[in-house]
Amino acid sequence: MKLTDNLYLYPEKGIFDCNTYVINDNLTVVIDSGSTQFLPALIEDLVKDGIDPKDIDIITNTHLHPDHCSANIALKEISGGEILFHPLHKKFYDAALKDVPKLLGLPSIELKEDGYLDNNKLNSGEMEFELIHSPGHSPDSICFYCRKVGILICGDVIFNQNTGRVDLPGGNGEQLKHSIEELSQLIIEYLLPGHMDIITGTEKVKNNFEFVKQNILRWL
Ligand SMILES: [Zn+2]
Ligand SMILES: [Zn+2]
Repeated sequence: MKLTDNLYLYPEKGIFDCNTYVINDNLTVVIDSGSTQFLPALIEDLVKDGIDPKDIDIITNTHLHPDHCSANIALKEISGGEILFHPLHKKFYDAALKDVPKLLGLPSIELKEDGYLDNNKLNSGEMEFELIHSPGHSPDSICFYCRKVGILICGDVIFNQNTGRVDLPGGNGEQLKHSIEELSQLIIEYLLPGHMDIITGTEKVKNNFEFVKQNILRWL
C-alpha cells in the first residue's frame, strides 16, 4: 500500500510478524522485513506495487526483535540487498537475538550484518531520514524521521493508543517515557508503528501522544 510518493506500507500478516515499510527512492530500503514465514506474501505484495525485489539495496530494522528481523537473511538471498545495522543494533545484539527469543521460547537468531547505517541519517535520494535513538521498549530502538514529509517510522516505541512492552530483556519504562516525550515534540504527519494501525494527520498523531502519556505511560 502506497503511503507517499516514495513510501509503502505492508501491514503485519500474522502473529510474530510486523509492519514492513519500503522506501522506493533512488535507493530501495526495506525497514523491518518481518517473519520468514510471511516473506513469500510480502514479495508478492511488492511485485504487485511494481517494486522488483532485485532492486532492494538496503535491508535494515527499527530494532532487532525476532518479529522485525527474522526474514532479513532470506530477503537478502532473494534480493541481493545488504543488511545494514545501526551501530546500536550491534551493541545490543545479544539481548535482542539471544535473550529475547529464549524468554519467548523461540530459537535464537543468527544475523550477520554487511555494514552499518550512518549514526545519524539515512539518505535514500529524494528522502532523508534522521535516526533517533528511542530506548525503552528495547535498548536498540531506532526511529526513522523524515522531517520534510513528517514521517516517523517508530518500531515498537509507540502504537495507536499503546506503547511497546518494557518487560523484555533491555526494556526500561523510564527510558520509554523519556523517548516518547522527545518524539512527541516532532511534527508528524504519518506515525508509522511496527504493529497495528498507522495514524495520519498531525492532529490525530498529537492526540495519540497525549492519550498514551495520560493512559499508558503513567502506569509504567
Ligand atoms: Zn519489539
Ligand atoms: Zn514488534
